[in-house]
Amino acid sequence: PPELRPEDYLDVDRLLSDEERAIRDAVRAWVRDRVLPEVGGWFELGTLPSRELAPELGRLGLLGMHLQGHGCAGASATAYGLACTELEAGDTGVRSLVSVQGSLAMQAIDRWGSDEQRERWLPPMAAGEVLGCFGLTEPDAGSDPGAMRTTARRAGGDWVLHGQKMWITNGSVADVAVVWARCSDDGRVRGFLVPTDAPGFSAPPITRKLSLRASVTSELVLDDVRLPDDAALPGVASLRGPLSCLDEARHGVVWGAVGAARSCFLAALEYAGTREAFGRPIAATQIQQLKLARMATQVNQATLLALHLGRMKDAGRLRPEQVSMGKLANVDAALEVARTARQVLGGNGITLGYPVMRHMSNLESVVTYEGTADVHALVIGGALTGIDAFR
Ligand code: FAD
Repeated sequence: PPELRPEDYLDVDRLLSDEERAIRDAVRAWVRDRVLPEVGGWFELGTLPSRELAPELGRLGLLGMHLQGHGCAGASATAYGLACTELEAGDTGVRSLVSVQGSLAMQAIDRWGSDEQRERWLPPMAAGEVLGCFGLTEPDAGSDPGAMRTTARRAGGDWVLHGQKMWITNGSVADVAVVWARCSDDGRVRGFLVPTDAPGFSAPPITRKLSLRASVTSELVLDDVRLPDDAALPGVASLRGPLSCLDEARHGVVWGAVGAARSCFLAALEYAGTREAFGRPIAATQIQQLKLARMATQVNQATLLALHLGRMKDAGRLRPEQVSMGKLANVDAALEVARTARQVLGGNGITLGYPVMRHMSNLESVVTYEGTADVHALVIGGALTGIDAFR
């Protein structure tokens, strides 16, 4: 049998194709060279050089990676998931940049847009020359997007958008915002492509974050933004529009959490082997071995779960409730691994000299965005019992 590798104790690697391994290795190498040397500094300063990174991510084929045509790579859901794991092993901020661009903004245009909208926006977005964001959440409507207050009203043949969005990843750096608004004439929710230089649009960054610091998070202000008729996405007029995109993005989160967990576990494993206390490595103690064994188990279980869901998605058999289970399980596991690893590192664990506390604090956002852990538990609970706990 092959040698045991801590981060792949169960030899899940064998379940991947050569092509999948090649994609994974290319992303891993990019993260090692481009992200890891700098990410501590970005996190400390609360910045991400999104504009510089996007064209590189585009060249790697990672933007809209799972979409077909218009310059997109047309990769499998599993290959995209593997890329998400590697990106998030660098930092959740970099994975979020890619998720929002590809799974949310580009996905919305690809699935619900017109041919003209697809042709105009998708090629430069796949290349990373044009950045997108996805505005669904509002200050008073997060888990319950149906409570949104942003409106779109008709003015002649145009649309006029008014309202506010909150917690929008890529907001201040985006060229185009996919904004979901309730139309005042028929009360239905539609998506709009808003060029961010439109008069009345602004995207002030949200500062003083203690999580996802290496990520741009913004408010979107729409003060009577006037848009032509063809700014609306014609394919959908209900919450199914944004929710279908969120299903895509959550699948990436299931995989991404594995990367954050793996990075924390490997840091703890290495540290425990070299750090001495009471005259021997702390790894020689039963308590630390128990922690390492648990962390390894959680990382490997999360890997298997992500791969299983990815394969189901590629086979067209994955249901949203199953993605909810994946997100709930893998983000919970990653948080537990990160918190345990942080303690293994002692005082060093609280610094940016190691990746652990950075991941730990990032995961506090991951457990909240793309549907909170509570909301996913309620989705699973509703499917199990047949009783809808949201009403
Ligand atoms: P609330 O919905 O107010 O929830 C507060 C608490 O109440 C939570 O614990 C929740 O689980 C609980 N709760 C809510 N409903 C129920 C219920 N029925 N039963 C029991 N408990 C309940 N949004 C976007 O649109 N685009 C983005 O790009 C984006 N990026 C983000 C980036 C970051 C860093 C963060 C933190 C958020 C981002 N979000 C984005 C928003 C994110 O999706 C929301 O924060 C999330 O949906 C939760 O909404 P909320 O913050 O309003 O919390």
